[in-house]
Amino acid sequence: THFGFETVKESEKQEKVLKVFENVAEDYDIMNDVMSLGIHRLWKDYFISSLSPTNNTKLLDVAGGTGDIAFRFIDYVKTYQRQNCHVTVTDINSHMLNVGKIRSKALNHDPGIINWQEGNAEELPFKDNTFNAYTIAFGARNCTHIDKVLSEAYRVLQPGGRFMCLEFSQLENTTLQWLYDQYSFQVIPVMGQLIAKQWKPYQYLVESIRQFPNQEKYKNMIEEAGFRQVAFENLTLGIVAIHSGFKL
Ligand code: SAM
Repeated sequence: THFGFETVKESEKQEKVLKVFENVAEDYDIMNDVMSLGIHRLWKDYFISSLSPTNNTKLLDVAGGTGDIAFRFIDYVKTYQRQNCHVTVTDINSHMLNVGKIRSKALNHDPGIINWQEGNAEELPFKDNTFNAYTIAFGARNCTHIDKVLSEAYRVLQPGGRFMCLEFSQLENTTLQWLYDQYSFQVIPVMGQLIAKQWKPYQYLVESIRQFPNQEKYKNMIEEAGFRQVAFENLTLGIVAIHSGFKL
């Protein structure tokens, strides 16, 4: 095909992804707003309200980037006065984490509620049964081996722990999917070029969305990793989906 990244070998994917996010780290938050017309904020808010953290939630936010999910978690536990909660943000890219740390400081977060740890979703630097909640938002599709991501999620969760994933998915309506594809392939790389002065990372973004398994297929993969009560919910007609499961 004429889309460059599709020919990249599996073994090279991780390195490519690392570069992509190294290049976009500074512009990442602005570009999210531009490309999604701000809607990613609503999806993330909804994601955390679906998790509805209780007292004693020990969350691991994987591919946590610049902290969007972790910060919403912190806001939630403050608003609903949840006690004894903590979030660990992990990401393979230290540039993204550094942007997150600066944001967290500016937001005056209690340093005791959050920590940042560089790490690969496919080989998490944590012991078994460490957390009781696991989130990954717009990160799963960037990983090379989804099955490894899922088995690692299962390993680090305690029994009873919940897995939740927010990710781009596929629209149910084929005409809308076609329109959405036009927007993605034609408009997004152009905006990347115009605003962030980069084309390739945004072309990659669009392709990685296209290659990620659809709702049902992904649900099966989560079940194969051992999770129970696996379910998904489409948001915005299936542009994104939330998958959830429990380690029982
Ligand atoms: N979760 C954040 C959000 O919703 O704004 C960031 C999402 S960003 C689109 C994807 C993140 O996945 C990047 O920060 C990237 O560095 C990270 N990432 C890619 N591959 C990874 C891996 N194998 N392990 C951990 N993080 C990874």
